[in-house]
Parts: sequence; structure tokens; C-alpha cells
Amino acid sequence: MEKRDYYEVLEVAKNATPEEIKKAYRKKAIQYHPDKNPGDKAAEEKFKEAAEAYEVLSDPQKRQRYDQFGHAGMQGAAGFSGGGMSMEDIFTHFGDVFAGAGFDISDFFGGRGGGGRRVIRGTDLRVRVKLTLEEIATGVEKKIKVRKLVECKSCHGTGSADGRDGETCPQCKGRGVVYRQQRGFLGMMQVQTDCPECHGEGKIIRNKCTQCQGEGVVREEEIITINIPAGVSHGMTLTMQGKGNAAPRGGVPGDLLVLIEEEEHKELIRQGDDLVYNLLLDLPTAILGGQVKIPTLTGEAKITISEGTQPGKVLRMRGKGLPHLDQYGRTYGQGDLLINVGVYIPEKLSLDERKQIEKLKDSPNIVPNGSNKKSFFQNLFG
Ligand SMILES: [Zn+2]
Ligand SMILES: [Zn+2]
Repeated sequence: MEKRDYYEVLEVAKNATPEEIKKAYRKKAIQYHPDKNPGDKAAEEKFKEAAEAYEVLSDPQKRQRYDQFGHAGMQGAAGFSGGGMSMEDIFTHFGDVFAGAGFDISDFFGGRGGGGRRVIRGTDLRVRVKLTLEEIATGVEKKIKVRKLVECKSCHGTGSADGRDGETCPQCKGRGVVYRQQRGFLGMMQVQTDCPECHGEGKIIRNKCTQCQGEGVVREEEIITINIPAGVSHGMTLTMQGKGNAAPRGGVPGDLLVLIEEEEHKELIRQGDDLVYNLLLDLPTAILGGQVKIPTLTGEAKITISEGTQPGKVLRMRGKGLPHLDQYGRTYGQGDLLINVGVYIPEKLSLDERKQIEKLKDSPNIVPNGSNKKSFFQNLFG
């Protein structure tokens, strides 16, 4: 098989920072982790491939060598495993990338030595969070009530009434899998399936906890605190690893997926990181200039309208938009508040008002002519 480019394997740019590489590897390692993909050979290959790419790209010297000479440069390079690492090696060398990923590494890899015993993963929990633009501008801490599976306190999640670990399953001898012979195209084949007796867990609990019926988890209401970064947008999903449903009998908890919904603002319209405000000026202010109030996310602001402001002009208040959130969850920079200037043309006039306007009708500065017409369009588009 043709060796794939390491950057391609981790899906990072050639100029990715060490932090980006680490993050990308962590994502791949979690995605293809054997405990998440039991018995899946393709996932195991991907897991190993990612580890090999990370081994090279996380080391400045190896990375430089690879950048210069490609895979050929790595043949026999000092300190390079050549991609032949075993699963155990990978866990030993790169386990630290999982730190802070939301689960305890010892839990995640627990029981590895005991054969292929499956670590059960709790299901993901989905919640919606509605945010105002003001909350999005600053980031916000939300406390929400969820009903979720949590560890049973009575048995500490073991599922066993006497608090003891389950007995080793007699059918699979604790391996969690059984093999059976099956006839295939190439003769007899050995097929591996989950043990029907213990459902792949390798253990059987005889004396079940009465609180959770041996499941090790119970459904409870819990208040979860979610820290929402500034700059999120409608439809975005934040993943809080390990904050979902607890898994039966000490497995890995699922994730909490937080779907962001944005409440419509009364006056401001969001456009990416910018905000738009439609300002309607009265005729005298547009002509004579003056001060007007503009709503912003941090309260009202006053701006000065200069004499002869044209409808269609866009004024910009720098930094009064929303912070920019990048794909790694970092917040930097700030959008602008764009003010679309419109001028209100009255539709109904009193007799007196009508007279005053009629007086202006033929006044030289009121009627468009060659020179003021030119400056109008220059003002608007210049
Ligand atoms: Zn229990
Ligand atoms: Zn079994």
C-alpha cells in the first residue's frame, strides 16, 4: 500500500503549528481508538497511521527531515520507529495527547492488558442553548438542567450489590469475545463476535445492585455548567467530551453536544462577525447634520452625522461587532458595526409643511445639477 502523506493523514496544513498537530492527532486517535471501534481492523490501521504521522510531525527534527525528503528521508532515521509501533507502544508514547480531552486516560485504556475486553461508551447527550447577541459578544456561562445517566452512588457504578467487581465470564474467560468457525470462500474461517453471555464485557455480575438493577447507572437530573466562548453562531455544535451519559459499569461517558441557537436581536442584524444597523434619518438631520443614537451590544452610542449625508451611505463603527472565533475555539479580533443610512421621505404633510417644502422646490442647492450630482455618487461609492 502506498504510504500517505503525514500532513494528509492528520489533515493539517504544511505550516501547522505544533499545537494544531497535537490537536489533529488527538482527534484522529479518539476517532479510531480501538475501544471505540472494537474488532475493526481498518480503524486500527488508521489509528496506527495517525500515530506514525504524529511521531514524525511532533518532533521538529524529524519533521524537518520529512519536509525535505518525504517518506524516503525517514528510512532508517535515528529514533524513528518506522511505523512499526505496537498498540501498547502508541499508548505509552502518545498517551499524553489525551490529557484534557475530558476523560481519564487510565479509564480509557483500562483493562487493555486483559485481552480484548470492550470498554463501553455512554451515549451522547444533546441540548440546545439559546443565546442573545449580547451573550455571544462576551461569551457566557450557562447552567442547564439535563436528565442524564449518572454513576449509581449505591454501587459506585459497578452494578454489583456487594460492591465487588463482577466474576470473570465463564463462556469467554473474560475476553469479551467468542470465536466460532464459519465456512467461507477460502474454507473454514474463524469469526469473532461479542460474547453472548456477558455482552462483551468479560464480566458477569451475580449479585446485582437493586438501585440500578446491575446497570451501574441511574437517570438523574443534573445541572451542567457550560462555558460558551464568545463569537459562537447559530447552528454551531460545541462538544463537551465526557459530559454525556455515563456508561454502564464504569465505561467511558459519552459527550454532551451543545447546539447553539441565536435569538433575533430587536435592532441589530448579524452578518458573520459584523453587525448591521439600519438607520433611518429624518430629512433635516440628513441635510443639516446632527447627533443620533445607535444601539450597540454594549449600550447606546452617539454618532455625529455630517452635513449632507446621503441615503445609502454605510458608516462603520470599528470593533463594535462580534469577536471572531476560529475553528480551534480561540477568540481574537472583533467585527464592526455597519450603519446603513437611509433617509425618511415623509409620505403625508400638513398644509404648512407642504408650503415650506414647495418654497424649496426651485432653490438652486436643492435641485440636482451637474456638479452636486457628481459629488453625490462619489460620496456614496467613494
Ligand atoms: Zn447500583
Ligand atoms: Zn463473556
